[in-house]
Amino acid sequence: MDCIFCKIAAGQIPSEFIYQDDDFVAFNDIHPQAPTHILIIPKKHIVSIAELADDDVPLLGRMMAVAKHVAQELGLAQNGYRLIINNGPDGGQVVMHLHMHLLGGRKLPDKMK
Ligand code: AMP
Ligand code: ZN
Repeated sequence: MDCIFCKIAAGQIPSEFIYQDDDFVAFNDIHPQAPTHILIIPKKHIVSIAELADDDVPLLGRMMAVAKHVAQELGLAQNGYRLIINNGPDGGQVVMHLHMHLLGGRKLPDKMK
């Protein structure tokens, strides 16, 4: 499958993993929007939240736990951080492999509600 994040997860594109386990990898965003800008992705190719199967819902819970763990390890827990999942064209999703942005290290701008 021609998916850049599948290739990163499979090690076919050399990347430095900030975190990895059986189900997830985390790596630096190539165009960081904050001092810390990490992408957490499931190794499994899931296109988006909209395409999430019921069976994959527990995986999302574990993805949140990975985000918490990585943020803690990087010393972001005290000052805070932002988790973002863009979905579809209006949500600004560009890479069609589910990923969560972990942003921190500075006061982030006011967000859209
Ligand atoms: P989204 O708009 O939510 O689909 O975000 C996709 C993100 O992936 C953007 O922030 C890009 O900078 C990032 N990105 C795209 N290709 C790569 C890559 N090869 N390595 C790291 N980050 C990437
Ligand atoms: Zn993929």
